[in-house]
Amino acid sequence: MLQRLKDDFYLAMLTLVGAMIVLCVTPYAIYRLYTGNYVVGIADLIMVLCAILASRYAWRTGDTVKPGLFMAIVFCVGALLVCVNLGVDGLFWVYPFLVFIFFLVSPLRAFGLLLVLLSTLFIIGSTHPGLVFASSFQMMAFFVTTSITSLFSFIFAYRAQIQRRELKRLATTDSLTGASNRRTLNEQLVLAIDEHARRGRQYGLILLDLDHFKQINDKFGHKTGDKMLIELVPVLQSMLRQHDPVFRFGGEEFVVIVADVSAAALQKLAEKLRQGVAEKMFLPDDSHITTSVGIAMLQSGEDWEAWLHRADMALYQAKHQGRNQVVVG
Ligand code: GH3
Ligand code: MG
Ligand code: MG
Repeated sequence: MLQRLKDDFYLAMLTLVGAMIVLCVTPYAIYRLYTGNYVVGIADLIMVLCAILASRYAWRTGDTVKPGLFMAIVFCVGALLVCVNLGVDGLFWVYPFLVFIFFLVSPLRAFGLLLVLLSTLFIIGSTHPGLVFASSFQMMAFFVTTSITSLFSFIFAYRAQIQRRELKRLATTDSLTGASNRRTLNEQLVLAIDEHARRGRQYGLILLDLDHFKQINDKFGHKTGDKMLIELVPVLQSMLRQHDPVFRFGGEEFVVIVADVSAAALQKLAEKLRQGVAEKMFLPDDSHITTSVGIAMLQSGEDWEAWLHRADMALYQAKHQGRNQVVVG
């Protein structure tokens, strides 16, 4: 549970906002109902209920976009109702909302929703003097301060989003080749095992290792070796479907997880990759670079370590049998 909160920023924020709403708004809801202000009391209770339901949905499904948007829209309507019913007393509640809406939805969506909320309040304030604002001076002060708060919240959230994406990219990709890294491979292997067990989806693993790479480094230099590794990834990707990612497993070893594939199709694809590398990749002296390949279909009841081990054993055999070939594990 703690790991999920750590890994998923929006899930953590939805949960935090949900808990804050329950703790802070419930006493007000009870007080409003107790003092006979049923509209505000019921609006508060609906917000509390929506916060609980949205957090529960996010925890169950892992989807944070829909419940986040739902919560943000409900709170916009709630804020509007509270302002119209309580007048100046309700306006103070708009300020925390201007900040925490950025924790529920993407920065652009949050900014759009705030524009709608503030414009609606502006129209109500202008057409019904005395209903929400005590004076037009107060109304102007409210719109200037809420606009400034919204703008700075937006800039802050937008920067945080860019940094979060960059951090994720750095944590999941290999810096030399741009392929997904070993950590991501482990996560995807676990996901594949899970999908196979729950839905019976068929998965195949392709493990490739460039042949005599040490000699290539020795003969042409480490830089040329690096260049070969960088070139290899787009060459492999050009022969794969978009959702079959390439992972860098180690130095000059790469892995492809192929979903929804039969044993025969996996072997055909692995052969295509082997042939493609041999035909498309050249060394500085125009000689070809080759690759050995081990493949393994995921078997029922197998864990990912055993699955990977079978592909590794097949690769070992391909090397042993003379390289530049595919062996089925
Ligand atoms: P085999 O055909 O048996 O696979 O022989 P090999 O020489 O490819 O195998 P080995 O595993 O002995 O050597 C792998 C070499 O890959 C050793 C290492 O110097 C080189 N290597 C690993 N990572 C990198 C890298 O990031 N850049 C470069 N240029 N070389 C690397
Ligand atoms: Mg090698
Ligand atoms: Mg190797």
